[in-house]
Amino acid sequence: MGKALIIGAGGVASVVVHKCCQNPDVFEEICIASRTLEKCDALKNKLEGSNTKITTAQVDADHTDEVIDLINSFKPDIVINVALPYQDLTIMDACLATGVHYVDTANYEPPDTAKFEYKWQWAYKEKFEKAGLTALLGSGFDPGVTGVFTAYAQKHYFDEIHTIDIVDANAGDHGYHFATNFNPEINIREVTANGRYFENGEWVETPPLAVKKVYDLPEIGPKDIYLMYHEELESLAVNINGVKRIRFWMTFSEKYLTHLKVLENVGMTSIEPIEFEGKEIIPLQFLKAVLPDPASLGPRTKGKTNIGCIIQGMKDGKPRTYYVYNVCDHQECYAEVGSQAISYTTGVPAMIGAMLVMKGIWKKPGVFNVEEFDPDPFMEELNKNGLPWQESFSPTLLD
Ligand code: NDP
Repeated sequence: MGKALIIGAGGVASVVVHKCCQNPDVFEEICIASRTLEKCDALKNKLEGSNTKITTAQVDADHTDEVIDLINSFKPDIVINVALPYQDLTIMDACLATGVHYVDTANYEPPDTAKFEYKWQWAYKEKFEKAGLTALLGSGFDPGVTGVFTAYAQKHYFDEIHTIDIVDANAGDHGYHFATNFNPEINIREVTANGRYFENGEWVETPPLAVKKVYDLPEIGPKDIYLMYHEELESLAVNINGVKRIRFWMTFSEKYLTHLKVLENVGMTSIEPIEFEGKEIIPLQFLKAVLPDPASLGPRTKGKTNIGCIIQGMKDGKPRTYYVYNVCDHQECYAEVGSQAISYTTGVPAMIGAMLVMKGIWKKPGVFNVEEFDPDPFMEELNKNGLPWQESFSPTLLD
């Protein structure tokens, strides 16, 4: 069917590459391009013998010109951006300049402020409309599948959605004292930010990880969950008509939080540059350099993740509750694609989003979040591509 340019060669990119190669009818050819060429080549070597033709390239996606040159030489139908959120805008600019569709998994962040907002990318709407191109934002798990789950609930089970609680649980154990499951810099910026949720048309702010509950998750058991801000809250608040409250919860172990507190107290999580031995460094980037590479956690991580949406609302004049979730096993993911479940649950939906745009099923001019499209084909592909979902109509609520 076509060609995809995959930018990034980290944990998530590795899964995207494996999954594209499992769908060679759609992804006839892919190019893996990233800052470090050796990582692209290493990934290519892992997939030797695949029916998808693979090439690699070096690119610094902070520079639009470099991405434009690469697109012009490879001529993809779509760019799958699984580099870092800092590169979203430069890559979107390159897609506009060359007439290519765009998919990512995380919203743009300016490198010097931890801000999770869609405003920069939503500002590209008119440009993509005029160019007749699709930009699909946040097609990972959360954001991503959580938006598709909500759209599915809205389409099939509710006349009105009143509350959404997104619960992201990771019961995986990698055996390290402290490690993050995806890019440490992005992860720690997210976790140390203030909590925020949407209620009655307003945003309510809480200190970082100040609101805690215990929730008993299917196949995982009771876990401490903490209220956090997460970027899909912003788009769901806009796209789900009449929603009264949306919250996001994530599990953290005592051990993780104790280490994080200490690192924070000593200044290691700061993004303010400091002078060190005559050189300017950013403490959080230094910390990233000493922490385990998330891509190395795969062989060590045991246990499961469970991510889903608990939704309350009305159907035919009666109150209804609904819970839709996916359970993913770290070791099964590793056996299949050589990555742990966090990368897996992000990489599979990134591939599915790109597939639906390439097939023309999710193709329309403009900039969109996943919940703005028909959820059914995406839900079907989740079942086919390793992320089967389950549903319940009598979940325990988080009120
Ligand atoms: P990694 O740090 O493992 O990989 C990032 C990759 O991007 C690396 O290969 C890195 O290259 C490359 N890269 C960084 N800067 C540039 C640049 N300027 N030009 C070209 N390549 C660059 O991150 P992950 O794979 O864990 O995460 C990838 C993305 O997925 C992130 O945006 C993250 O926020 C998002 N994510 C989304 C989730 C969701 O559910 N929606 C969940 C988890 C992650 P190098 O190796 O040289 O550093």
